[in-house]
Amino acid sequence: MGLLIQTKRRWVQALSLLALNSNFRGFPQLGGCLPVLNCQYCHLAWLGCPIGMIGVSLAAGAFPWLVLGILLVAGLIVGRFFCGWVCPAGFIQDLLYRIPSPKIRIPRFLVWIKYAVLLVMVVGAAWFLGQGSLLYFCNVCPVSTTMVELPGMLAHNDYAVVAGRVVRVLVLVVVILLAIGNHRIFCKVFCPLGALMAVTNRFSLYSIRIKRDACVRCEQCDQACPMDVPAMRSQDRTRTVNADPECIECLVCEKICPTSAIIDDFHRAGRQP
Ligand code: SF4
Ligand code: SF4
Repeated sequence: MGLLIQTKRRWVQALSLLALNSNFRGFPQLGGCLPVLNCQYCHLAWLGCPIGMIGVSLAAGAFPWLVLGILLVAGLIVGRFFCGWVCPAGFIQDLLYRIPSPKIRIPRFLVWIKYAVLLVMVVGAAWFLGQGSLLYFCNVCPVSTTMVELPGMLAHNDYAVVAGRVVRVLVLVVVILLAIGNHRIFCKVFCPLGALMAVTNRFSLYSIRIKRDACVRCEQCDQACPMDVPAMRSQDRTRTVNADPECIECLVCEKICPTSAIIDDFHRAGRQP
């Protein structure tokens, strides 16, 4: 069952990446963007990145009610499911981590950085400095650099060395290297969308639980978790596994558990005794 779940997840991630970037009506205006990841500034993207839309609204002096409302409703239903199953940037990081290399662990407190990124580089920079500021998140976002900036340079034969471009490329290179060494480090430490969705996890209707009587406390779930969630200890706090703000509901823990003690709402019906 667990293997099947992860195969399904890989397919959903791959198809999401293609589907989100298949707006081929935008092909004539392409001007050098690639159908990879997802950034609203690429003409091939169907949907605007929520972070980009929030920044655009705030820079224009408008509160992004609609985007935040959609995120809130989605979060209250399925928490960070999008991060684990749909987000193309997450999928690419899953692939990067498969590259053989020394793997590193990071201290848990670093996850707080992404909340600062959200407040300072998305909300504060867009509101007070506007979208032109180098502090504004989209101007250094590795997804935007991959999808729009680098292809644009190639398409227009424009290799001018300017400060903003140097910073963007450096950020991208550092994020790629870090993602090879630490699973989903961008999601854990830097992603402002992850920060936004994290606060909804505790209230989501969808749940992943541990059956106490089946758990032998082997901690394999904790060790396998790409987001370093202390899944096993959730039962001591009598809360769901995915109440943890870092859980992206990838179900890797469910797959790895040797006693099938972890069970989620989608698969509960087929596995309950
Ligand atoms: S992997 Fe399963 S049995 Fe082991 S600690 Fe986690 S929930 Fe318990
Ligand atoms: S706790 Fe389980 S479902 Fe949540 S991120 Fe970790 S492995 Fe995935």
